[in-house]
Amino acid sequence: MKVRVRFAPSPTGFLHIGGARTALFNWLYARHTGGTFILRIEDTDAARNTQEAVDVILNGLRWLGLDWDEGPISGDVTGPSKGDRGPYFQSQRSENYQRRVEALLSHGLAYEHEGAVKFKMQREPVVIPDLVVGNVTRELTDREKMDPDFVIVRSDGQPVFHLVNVIDDLEMGITHVIRGEDHLTNSAKHIALFRAFGVEPPKYAHIPLILNPEGTKMSKRDKGASLMTYVEEGYAPEAVVNYLCLLGWSPKGNREKVPIQEVIELFDLPQILRHNARFDLNKLHWLNGEYIREMTADRFHELAVHALARIGIDTNRFPLDYVKAALDTCKPKVKLFAEVRTFADFYFKDEIDYATEATAQDFAPEAKPRLQQLRDALAGLEKFDADTLNATFKALAARAGWSIGLLVHPARLICTGRAVGPSLYHLMAVLGKERVLQRFDRALSRMG
Ligand code: GLU
Repeated sequence: MKVRVRFAPSPTGFLHIGGARTALFNWLYARHTGGTFILRIEDTDAARNTQEAVDVILNGLRWLGLDWDEGPISGDVTGPSKGDRGPYFQSQRSENYQRRVEALLSHGLAYEHEGAVKFKMQREPVVIPDLVVGNVTRELTDREKMDPDFVIVRSDGQPVFHLVNVIDDLEMGITHVIRGEDHLTNSAKHIALFRAFGVEPPKYAHIPLILNPEGTKMSKRDKGASLMTYVEEGYAPEAVVNYLCLLGWSPKGNREKVPIQEVIELFDLPQILRHNARFDLNKLHWLNGEYIREMTADRFHELAVHALARIGIDTNRFPLDYVKAALDTCKPKVKLFAEVRTFADFYFKDEIDYATEATAQDFAPEAKPRLQQLRDALAGLEKFDADTLNATFKALAARAGWSIGLLVHPARLICTGRAVGPSLYHLMAVLGKERVLQRFDRALSRMG
């Protein structure tokens, strides 16, 4: 049996990390088994269904690198790898639902009631076989004991979630339903519907919840609940993917940093942990730093250039070698791509804004003669590499009897406008003699 799985989000305008994890586990299972991963947008609720809300899902999955394998040919919605294949949209599939409801009605498995259509639900408890939590028996509630039937088409003609979810899973040949544990109780209704349509239900794997650090279910309001936060704060997608893998699944030996190719090889449904996963932002932050540390320079450049573009810095205006050399000086210090702003913005500005971090004292008139001498020493250099700069600063400080800090700190401010950043001699070497001297001249002219 070829595995076919799906991620079936409703467009709410928000991609919760729990949803992202569900998507990831489906994708991993498809890639592990050589099966098919389907994206199906459950957008039957017309009121909430906007293009922006759909884009949040598509962009989130693209950012994570979770490519979907099939879907109707579509001009404007493109998947990351399959070009012109868009996701399925339930809003485009209403004939299927009508046809299926008519079949239920004609077989006496559903009936009309006050303008709505109700499904004749079985009167006995339903056993839900689940690959993660084992067999779960869903008993009837007191209300259901009196009337277990449930609405499948509302009186306004809208088919309900249970119905369309099952019809699509059936028609798309879904073999495994991997979804959040909050849907476990719905599965009783779904299993009964599958049987009414004359097919055996797919296999179920309900993934335990994600808890916030307080130990309650992670809600939309909890810090870090939205996938967009990670995009905006400059996490590396591979670090977020790795972290999401660990939220409910674990490789042997308590390993934390596991390359995705290895996860694909190891991942299987029975190993999904049965207990709830605890969300830990510090761990994700740590993992992100590890990823950056071990990342290739090219990957670092790619993500850093994106992060700079997000804040309006267009690195394309500069020669590629310069951009690369500039970003290389940031890599050892950056733990989040959002930090690239403070570590690298000065490389790409024509004028440094001293108002942000320099104090009046830094540029006090008595500092001027010292900085003038430093400027002249720099102007006389033929080589402008880090070692030469280091030696020049040291020699001047020794000759004049100043502590090196009296030169280093203002030089950093003059060149970058900031008090911390990449290694000073390296950043000066990257800026180059001409830019450095310009910045010195401008700062000196301000010093009265
Ligand atoms: N649209 C449902 C949701 O977003 C899908 C549940 C399922 O995966 O079956 O929760």
